[in-house]
Amino acid sequence: MVKESPLQPSNSPNITSEQLLSLAHQARKNAYAPYSHYLVGACILTDQGNTYTGVNVENRSYGATVCAERTAIGAMITAGEYKILKIAVDTGDGGFPCGICLQSIAEFAVSRELCTIIVQAADGMKELSLSDLAPHLWTSDKVQPKL
Ligand SMILES: [Zn+2]
Repeated sequence: MVKESPLQPSNSPNITSEQLLSLAHQARKNAYAPYSHYLVGACILTDQGNTYTGVNVENRSYGATVCAERTAIGAMITAGEYKILKIAVDTGDGGFPCGICLQSIAEFAVSRELCTIIVQAADGMKELSLSDLAPHLWTSDKVQPKL
């Protein structure tokens, strides 16, 4: 029997926020966090309806640590997709993405108003737009992608 990898993309255009959180939760089990023991899983839903998961990957050289949100972005980019519609994050305690991850999510968000970030807090699921969560992320007209 082949074990289904949570890292494989799946095309589920009607996936719910609860299902995204569940995928993030499943991925979280594979997080590599031997230093902080703070396991994080993330699951992106793209504008094409595909999902990509990621986990935090710590390093004994702490600055080399990468958050789950950014490893999920790496999986999405590796598959040739570039637009985040939603991202669910499971930290176990309802934590939202850090500032670096919010900036990274903004790079690929369908828009800051439409892109939503989902977490499971102790008092229930919270779903906020990127612009609500981080209204003043850095941007500049002088620094634009040239694809
Ligand atoms: Zn982060």
